[in-house]
Amino acid sequence: MRHALPFDPGARATTTDSLQVGMVRRVDTGEVLDVEDWIPSQTLGQIHALRPDLRQRREAARFVCFCCGHPVLLKKHANGGHFFAHKEKGDAEKAGCLYQDGRSPGLADIDRLRYQGQREGARHRRTKDLIARILRADARFAEPVIEQVWTSFSDGWRKPDVASKWDGLPVVFEAQVSNTYPQIVAERTVFYRDRGALLVWIFDQLPDSAWRTLHADTFCANQQHLFVVDEECVAESERTGRAHLRCYSQRPDVEVVQRPSDGRIVLQPTLVESFKLVAWDQLTLNAERQTACQFEVAEDMRRARHKVLCSLARADYRHNDLATDICSLLGRQFPISASNIEGWAALVCAIEARRLNMGVGTKYVNTVGGLNLVHDHHPHFFPHLVTTLDRIGLDPEVQRTGAWAMRVNEFHKGRYFGGEIPPPHAGSEQLLKWLYPE
Ligand SMILES: [Zn+2]
Repeated sequence: MRHALPFDPGARATTTDSLQVGMVRRVDTGEVLDVEDWIPSQTLGQIHALRPDLRQRREAARFVCFCCGHPVLLKKHANGGHFFAHKEKGDAEKAGCLYQDGRSPGLADIDRLRYQGQREGARHRRTKDLIARILRADARFAEPVIEQVWTSFSDGWRKPDVASKWDGLPVVFEAQVSNTYPQIVAERTVFYRDRGALLVWIFDQLPDSAWRTLHADTFCANQQHLFVVDEECVAESERTGRAHLRCYSQRPDVEVVQRPSDGRIVLQPTLVESFKLVAWDQLTLNAERQTACQFEVAEDMRRARHKVLCSLARADYRHNDLATDICSLLGRQFPISASNIEGWAALVCAIEARRLNMGVGTKYVNTVGGLNLVHDHHPHFFPHLVTTLDRIGLDPEVQRTGAWAMRVNEFHKGRYFGGEIPPPHAGSEQLLKWLYPE
């Protein structure tokens, strides 16, 4: 096409040899672009539309330098070629960026950056592919849509990596292989929440010793759960017909510790780390809060704290803190007799001893002593002990021995010390169900 004026927006853009920033990252997609290849893939019209847009953005950069992560602008060289340059030269300098004015990075550096960029692209594609295969294995997920525009262009354009629907809830998975900027994460979270959809970030590997900001942010925002996908997730999903992800979590719990001062074994709060496959249908989804999790951190911390107080009540005969905690858990103030406090503490210590396989509240590592103590001295708590251990599967018949085995047998025959079974302490029902949920 001939033009009177020498500008044709449909013509291919050209680049220039004096490139300032050779590789850039598109912030919204995480994609890494080799500028030398990318600029000629654009028309002059596209480049000239993009230039003012990059300059107008004050906070959210659309393109950043792949090497130092600082925002870049498009510029035009006197020879007609286009190139990217840092918006703030001082930032790149401070960051020790390889791409700086009047300096050209060595070939080895260029190769290394190029290799990193390509590898990231490949990892991103692989992660997306794994997610799609996991969802396809589970018929309850709608056919996944991969990298399709999510909604209108009005609020800027978004491309969720993998979008699907679970039981009527739109769920969007974003593959996370590079350090996406916290601002982008925050914006996307709000975007999907406002549309009643759940956004789940998926990593392709666990962070090593150094956690990046993004790992930490994602982990904490999601009740201390972080999701990773690998081939094993796909295999398990296909084998069972249930979508599985690998989940790294830190769950609040208690652990036993022997006090050096008096040799007593008490409980203390801890975080139990785990990294294993979890079925998607086992997760509790909350689009309002943007979480997909197996447990609630605050709730489990509360349970751990209560168990610690039970072990201290038993070890030190200190009842006040435990009584106060029970009142606060039940949401009312009422007097609790010393015998009920002791019974409750002995009950919880016996269950925890069975669970952790270590005596709790005493000096004795033996776990059976605590069980027999409840039987002999806290008759109204004994029925709770048998039924709770049974409910949470902690005391299988084959593992019962000696006096404890006989006592449980008697209980199942409806007998206690040759008489009737004492009625279980009624006030404990609610608390037990909370402390040991299904
Ligand atoms: Zn840079």
